[in-house]
Amino acid sequence: MLDEKIEPFYDEVVRRNPGEAEYHQAVREVVDSLGPLLAKHPRFAERKILERICEPERQIIFRVPWIDDRGEVQINRGYRVEVNSALGPYKGGLRFHPSVNLGIVKFLGFEQVFKNALTGMPIGGGKGGSDFDPKGRSDDEVMRFCQSFMTELYRHIGEYTDVPAGDIGVGAREIGYLFGQYKRITNRYESGVLTGKGLEWGGALVRTEATGYGTALFAREMLAAHGRDLDGLTAVVSGSGNVAIYAIEKLQQLGATVVACSDSDGVVHDPAGIDVALLKQVKEVERARLDRYAERRDSATHRQAANIWEVPCQVALPCATQNELNGYDAKSLIDNGCTVVAEGANMPTTPEGVRAFLDAGVAFGPGKAANAGGVATSALEMQQNASRDRWTFEHTEARLDDIMTDIHRLCFETAEEFGAPGNYVIGANVAAFERVGHAMVALGLI
Ligand code: NDP
Repeated sequence: MLDEKIEPFYDEVVRRNPGEAEYHQAVREVVDSLGPLLAKHPRFAERKILERICEPERQIIFRVPWIDDRGEVQINRGYRVEVNSALGPYKGGLRFHPSVNLGIVKFLGFEQVFKNALTGMPIGGGKGGSDFDPKGRSDDEVMRFCQSFMTELYRHIGEYTDVPAGDIGVGAREIGYLFGQYKRITNRYESGVLTGKGLEWGGALVRTEATGYGTALFAREMLAAHGRDLDGLTAVVSGSGNVAIYAIEKLQQLGATVVACSDSDGVVHDPAGIDVALLKQVKEVERARLDRYAERRDSATHRQAANIWEVPCQVALPCATQNELNGYDAKSLIDNGCTVVAEGANMPTTPEGVRAFLDAGVAFGPGKAANAGGVATSALEMQQNASRDRWTFEHTEARLDDIMTDIHRLCFETAEEFGAPGNYVIGANVAAFERVGHAMVALGLI
């Protein structure tokens, strides 16, 4: 498919997937990068690789009934979209959040295919979740929901078939309840069926930290490409969940000062640098809102409904959710001297925001490259489960570091090869599509 065919192709994706705005956005961003690659490999067009990649292999939607603490019946909707298995079993997280719908799951699964390809590990791509909101629910309610969710999902997953993990609203607690129910129904201790497990029952060291650490390492590599490092730089990280907490920790280990983070209620500004131990206590142990952090720390203030991207910084890591950083926010960051942006979240920057960064010469690392450390370490967890082995923190972190360095190099060099030096969006999309495309051609029309 050449450039002039991309517009009608995209129109057809919109027609076939009505109302799925995030999915359209994710497809658009990829296809816009692919003209020169498709010209280089005519076989991809002949075998309709792009058309097939944009049609998930399987889309599963199911009812999840459960009983709340008051004895009332609740009904949620569950999803698993298995997008592409050319490189390995479907792999990708589960998201529990009221905003979850088919379009969101498809966009996340689509991105996941390319992200997983960039890691170089043998994993395909998929994603799932539910519109269930764990916020404000008791542990018992979360357990009953997870058990009902898995009572349907178990028939679609497996170590060699589809391997879910966590995402927004799904952490070690939820993975525990999901794994327990899978084990009970199947009567198999199949550790490799889920990743993000607890350390006592098949989990891997560094998995909790991996996405955030990996994003910070990617930012380190982006700076290193220009002979710079993080030491002494000021950074801002949105969100205060799993990805954000460990991105902050690693940025500060590498010498930066992170002066702000956020949740969906507001922004904490802490010019002295975020106290990661306190942040973990508030968010991971107490499961409280972020204002509690500011209550306990003299140097910090909390502002409701504030815009984190107006806080001056040199490095920005969006680590909360999709489309949280728009064109206006990008301009604020650029005007305030930001030169490096690495996405810890999936598609947090709108197309206008991405364009603004690229036009201004900001080094911009898209999520499918910058946050791939999480899924890469999930693949390392699967590797340890398969060999009944357990690696040390240091060994696993060194593997993560190598993987992130390799992903950065691959994206950087591919962008240069395709005439777009410094453009990590093109580098990531082209390098990933090439890997998946070659495998799909080799496997025949499946
Ligand atoms: P968590 O649930 O642990 O944390 C999410 C954070 O983002 C919370 O601070 C939450 O605040 C905030 N947030 C969520 N929705 C919104 C919203 N609509 N507006 C503002 N803030 C919001 O999720 P993760 O940290 O795991 O995931 C964050 C992002 O990283 C997601 O895009 C996810 O897909 C991506 N990702 C995660 C990976 C992982 O390994 N966990 C791997 C790769 C990507 P609040 O509590 O107020 O909702």
